[in-house]
Amino acid sequence: MKLYDNHNHSQFSFDGHRTSVRRSAEAALAAGLGGICFTDHCDFHVPPMKAAYENLVSEVFDVEAQQKEINEVSHDIPGIRILKGIEAGMYHGCREQIREHLSAHSFDQVIASVHYIDDTDPFYGGYYEGKTWKEAYGHYLETIYEEITWLKDFDILGHYDYVARYAPYPQSSIMYADFADILDEILRFLAYEGKALEINTKTYQDYNGRTPVLDKNILLRFRELGGEGISLGSDSHDPSRTGDKFCHYSEFIKSLGFRWTVHFEARKAIFSGI
Ligand SMILES: [Zn+2]
Repeated sequence: MKLYDNHNHSQFSFDGHRTSVRRSAEAALAAGLGGICFTDHCDFHVPPMKAAYENLVSEVFDVEAQQKEINEVSHDIPGIRILKGIEAGMYHGCREQIREHLSAHSFDQVIASVHYIDDTDPFYGGYYEGKTWKEAYGHYLETIYEEITWLKDFDILGHYDYVARYAPYPQSSIMYADFADILDEILRFLAYEGKALEINTKTYQDYNGRTPVLDKNILLRFRELGGEGISLGSDSHDPSRTGDKFCHYSEFIKSLGFRWTVHFEARKAIFSGI
């Protein structure tokens, strides 16, 4: 069993200063992974609060420089497959820019994620104000659905439960039973279009005393709707988290009846048995 970590950030991400392609690739090799994909941040619009705090206007990485570095590190570390990816931040006001950017470059895999919503960043605050947990999580899931059905040009839906990580509510997790209708829409679209659902292991750790959990009913419903591709991603920003908790989550999905995980090379799905 050789697992791929399909979601990693490097020095080419605005927040990737704690690692590099080389260091994370070495960590992936040491962890016994079969491959690692670098999916650096690409958000064309940054909400004002974050832009001011971080002193930046966009989070678009230099694709040519990243891919050149990956080629060099691949040559130096032949023991592990190193893939070229992007985490495309979906935002309503930047739809055309995102689509053009994706078609202007070649990637092994594209993760589509929602980081910013209603011109706020859940991490920096503002988003949750005036919303109940159900409104905040539900609106985030609806936004994911609107953006993925528009974009279509992606391989993996990234961290569908990102909104729960930094939320102030006691309800720390996205549970199928609470959002069955909109989750069905998302999962059906992914299944029918052959897209993968990501298990983002960064979500399932302690955030100020709250630890979101992965609801198995979401995975079971995905499979029921014909979904096959489960992608494992650590969302690492430093080498110590590369492949984090992959043994646990690969065993978890196996116990639910999944027989493989998926990664993408040149945008083609490759399934590996677990
Ligand atoms: Zn992300």
